[in-house]
Amino acid sequence: MAGDAGSRKLSVEERIGLDAYDFGRNDFIKVDTQACRTCEPKPCLYVCPAKVYKLDEKGDIVYHPEDCMELGACVIVCRHIGKGAITWSYPEGGKGIEYRQG
Ligand code: SF4
Repeated sequence: MAGDAGSRKLSVEERIGLDAYDFGRNDFIKVDTQACRTCEPKPCLYVCPAKVYKLDEKGDIVYHPEDCMELGACVIVCRHIGKGAITWSYPEGGKGIEYRQG
């Protein structure tokens, strides 16, 4: 019921779904997926609440910058950041995510 949904606590996924994204370009995250092949724990899969990083059917990293919430957590946990596995910067001015639920 709409009244119940309006008063209940939203899940993280529901809150993220309410955010708005406006990307002029989405290459503000670049991942060298070749470097990822030797990263055994792949912490980026677990630290990103927007699930930008996923495994494909072959077990290789694929990523979706268009879902990025600009936390930068993936850069902090990346096991091969020193090898340039992730190149990350904020989207160009005025672009990126607009938070609507905190
Ligand atoms: S943590 Fe870094 S090197 Fe490891 S899979 Fe993720 S992006 Fe690749």
